[in-house]
Amino acid sequence: SGRLDGKHALVTAAGAGIGRATALAFAQAGAKVLATDIDSNALATLAAEHPALTTKLLDVTDAESIRALVHSSGPFDVLFNCAGYVHAGSILDTDDASWRRSFTINVDSMFHLCKAVLPGMLERGKGSIINMASVASSIKGIPNRFAYGTTKAAVIGLTRAIAADFVARGVRCNAICPGTVKTPSLGERVRALGGDEAANWRSFTDRQPMGRLGEPEEIAALALYLASDESAFTTGTIHVVDGGWSN
Ligand code: NAD
Repeated sequence: SGRLDGKHALVTAAGAGIGRATALAFAQAGAKVLATDIDSNALATLAAEHPALTTKLLDVTDAESIRALVHSSGPFDVLFNCAGYVHAGSILDTDDASWRRSFTINVDSMFHLCKAVLPGMLERGKGSIINMASVASSIKGIPNRFAYGTTKAAVIGLTRAIAADFVARGVRCNAICPGTVKTPSLGERVRALGGDEAANWRSFTDRQPMGRLGEPEEIAALALYLASDESAFTTGTIHVVDGGWSN
């Protein structure tokens, strides 16, 4: 039997990277998974990978769509808030629009999603919410990640507050803080640097004490643990998975 047998899970940003690896891991562990993203092609290829995966378009910045989706497809036992946006730059490089966009995608989305799924979880007295933060947050200041690090610190505060409010009512809420993980969007950031692509990749791996980046499956393994009842005694905690980067 699977570690998530009988559970219904909602995953955002499941089209690529960590969200995709996690949606697949949840399905392989026996969960019924609603995988959402804004990229319909990515969702179509994902749906073909496992029969327990259902897919739907969902833009996490659209609060009305979030409420409609949870109303039509809930209740959920597990919510994995994975969608996030990386703005590059210091405070001096961050204009109002980039600042606002960072909060809309990284924080407001989690407010709306948690608020939408919580009533169904509380009604049944069980649920696990997993929020994607980052080592770039209240854990560590990373150069040129001003808006990003600020929003991911807010995710940690949001996570702990929800955990405290519902700890006695069966709902758990935890955060995941990855270091640098090899995903398609990291590839885009590496190419955006221009110049020698191999040297750009080395600039990311050189700052890793393990000498390598994380794989999406290594983050999915932690999300799977937090989604399952194996972690029933764990709430309000911040799980670092970074190859020793912040140590
Ligand atoms: P990613 O950034 O490559 O994006 C994955 C998916 O997000 C894509 O399929 C994209 O279509 C979707 N997406 C973009 N905007 C969306 C929106 N508004 N609504 C719904 N979906 C949307 O994936 P990733 O690099 O695996 O990052 C996933 C999460 O992990 C993010 O929150 C990110 O901040 C966090 N994170 C990533 C790393 C890393 O090194 N990759 C490290 C720490 C934290």
